[in-house]
Amino acid sequence: MKVTIPTPRSRFLRVKCQKCGAVQIVFDRAATVVKCLSCGEVLAEPRGGKAKIRGEVVEVLT
Ligand SMILES: [Zn+2]
Repeated sequence: MKVTIPTPRSRFLRVKCQKCGAVQIVFDRAATVVKCLSCGEVLAEPRGGKAKIRGEVVEVLT
């Protein structure tokens, strides 16, 4: 499922690490690099306001 509707509201995403499979909550406007707590893989990178999600988004929390 892909959410393409732009929204001014920030959200939290449940992101699955591609490397180890751990699921972690990531803020979609993360201002710093978010790393997997289990293996250190980068899950999100700041990209001018909205974070670039590197892992698999399994759920969007609104
Ligand atoms: Zn990981």
